[in-house]
Amino acid sequence: MNIREFQQHIWHIYGHHDSKRGLSKTYKWLLREVGELGRAIDNNDILNAKEEIADVLAWLSSVAKLLAIDMETVAIERYGSGCPKCKSIPCKCTYREK
Ligand SMILES: [Zn+2]
Repeated sequence: MNIREFQQHIWHIYGHHDSKRGLSKTYKWLLREVGELGRAIDNNDILNAKEEIADVLAWLSSVAKLLAIDMETVAIERYGSGCPKCKSIPCKCTYREK
């Protein structure tokens, strides 16, 4: 399953709910899932982190769909040639802690 197929898959499962909920509330769910991933990381709970990464990806895909954004297209446009800033693989930009 590629990124586009995953986005379609999630939309087939949840699109009717996501459409009803709307962009703003669906985005808030994405943020909630990112927070849950952060807690799994802080707790070194790899099993839970796996679930949360899948959830974050699913909610991100719903947010993108509600914005009529094809995730695969934008991912390739932005990162297909490497780092968006230096265009290199691996990135040659100066390392920054944050
Ligand atoms: Zn770079």
